[in-house]
Amino acid sequence: TPQSWEARADEYSLYGFTDLPSVHKRGAVVLTHGEGPYVVDVNGNRYLDANSGLWNMVAGFDHKGLAQAAKDQYDRFPGYHAFFGRMSDQTVMLSEKLVEVSPFSRGKVFYTNSGSEANDTMVKMLWFMHASEGNPQKRKILTRWNAYHGVTAVSASMTGKPYNEVFGLPLPGFIHLTCPHYWRFGEEGETEAAFTQRLARELDETIQREGADTIAGFFAEPVQGAGGVIPPSEGYFQAILPVLKKHGIPMIADEVICGFGRTGNTWGSITYDFVPDAIISSKNLTAGLFPMGAVILGPELTDRLQAAIDKIEEFPHGFTASGHPVGCAIALKAIDVVMNEGLAQNVIDLAPRFEDGLRQLAQNPNIGEYRGVGFMWALEAVRDKATKTPFEGHLSVSERIANTCTDMGLICRPLGQSIVLCPPFILTPAQMDEMFEKLDKALGKVFAELA
Ligand code: PLP
Repeated sequence: TPQSWEARADEYSLYGFTDLPSVHKRGAVVLTHGEGPYVVDVNGNRYLDANSGLWNMVAGFDHKGLAQAAKDQYDRFPGYHAFFGRMSDQTVMLSEKLVEVSPFSRGKVFYTNSGSEANDTMVKMLWFMHASEGNPQKRKILTRWNAYHGVTAVSASMTGKPYNEVFGLPLPGFIHLTCPHYWRFGEEGETEAAFTQRLARELDETIQREGADTIAGFFAEPVQGAGGVIPPSEGYFQAILPVLKKHGIPMIADEVICGFGRTGNTWGSITYDFVPDAIISSKNLTAGLFPMGAVILGPELTDRLQAAIDKIEEFPHGFTASGHPVGCAIALKAIDVVMNEGLAQNVIDLAPRFEDGLRQLAQNPNIGEYRGVGFMWALEAVRDKATKTPFEGHLSVSERIANTCTDMGLICRPLGQSIVLCPPFILTPAQMDEMFEKLDKALGKVFAELA
């Protein structure tokens, strides 16, 4: 009815990344609250949210300790900035904590309101630093196809998705390398090791062609998330890091999804055994309870940026809510909850069960590949398994599957031809079984309809 919550949502709100209901042919879902890993809509329907909101609600939707940390801080000191050498005690403590849990022996932290802004900030730091060192031409940014780094003009330029063409992006100087997805981009007869070597050669050749003295930095997610959960090919980071080092190009790990437990470890870079020059964090940083991002610089970039700042006596950048005390108090609590109260451990403990469940679903003739790590996985649908031929039409199958799942009380995300599963870290084995049962039914229904 025109007065329904769903109709009112459609009437007055614009949605990110979709046009409901004309494209998805399914109305909005309007939510009122959550219970553990479930969300509940205005009509009382419960959905197991196998997306953790947007990867970020890792402690579920009703964690009392996190809400209490927010309330306590709102009572104590509800807002402040981090400009001009003023900041809250919570901000000081969080920076110390982030450097302590980082892979760096020492470092410094800068706060933003989102992951996109954290990537933007990092790019501006690199431009500022290189220019100050007498290399103003070092401005190009290297990323990969299928990368997702955000939506601001710079972070969208880093994102390797064709949809940004509608905005006339990427900006000049943003270069996208091959996505390290062996199953999809490996050539006929090419081993995974040879594929990795080809990508390392491509990086080296690109740097030589463009000129190392024109490149500001290289950014990569340890596992590409919004690209459809793409773990790196075998030995990928070990192959590309020496190339970057040889050319003196900083390597930035975008840990917005992978950070704080999603792959089981504090950082995805630990899971894939490499140390970047800086880390971008957001999402899990506050377990989704506060919009906040952070740039964590390792020792070398800390010193080089500090030298640049000393020259002009300021870093002319920052957001009104950078280092917000409530966000910082929540982040301190969230890090403790995720890393020390068994949530990351639950990811490690249940990851084998997750993989087993997907292996069984992947026996379906229309599932080409299952892939992932920890609590981030994807199933990729194919029309023909042997030839890996996709179904026709952008998002057509994955959307149908996700919408069918929603009708059955399971929220999962369609990404390209894949269905992504990234549930909160509090998921129990029984809830994981519920997720698989519902998904299995939805897959059976949709593939039968498309047969
Ligand atoms: N980087 C990665 C890896 C992400 O997955 C995202 C968001 O999904 C972002 C950056 C952008 O973060 P935000 O949406 O908070 O701007």
